[in-house]
Amino acid sequence: MIRIGFGYDSHRFAGDGPLTLGGVRIEHEKGFAAHSDGDVVLHALTDAILGGLAAGDIGEHFPDTDPQYKNADSAVFLRHANKLAADAGYSVGNCDITILAESPKLGPHKAAIAANIAEILNIEPGCVSVKAKTNETMGFIGRAEGIAVMANVLLRDM
Ligand code: MG
Repeated sequence: MIRIGFGYDSHRFAGDGPLTLGGVRIEHEKGFAAHSDGDVVLHALTDAILGGLAAGDIGEHFPDTDPQYKNADSAVFLRHANKLAADAGYSVGNCDITILAESPKLGPHKAAIAANIAEILNIEPGCVSVKAKTNETMGFIGRAEGIAVMANVLLRDM
């Protein structure tokens, strides 16, 4: 038995950097406007796992009105989703993540992000794909107003 999940998230730049993407601190002139640490990569991936489980979305599990998640480490959200998957008898087979960002340039950080996600999910690094692209200067991403992420995940029964 396998299940597939998809997640999307976007965050607006605001204030000073650095950024946290996929749990990796990246130097940038701006940070994110967010209740948690704003880790848009981990939020999209968390939603992908929740989606695969048909278990709602990240906002239901971790309301941004809840003060305990103020500046939260988003790895907490991803670990929670991974545990829900395990409780349902599933593990993440592989995930494929696309980060859309005009800045910062993410090429040098993709491997570190993938390795960190693999560690959080307790899966092989080769099961985590992190891709990065610009939006060819179009739209809110192209104007460097923020970053968006799309993530797919395959869940397989253990
Ligand atoms: Mg988010």
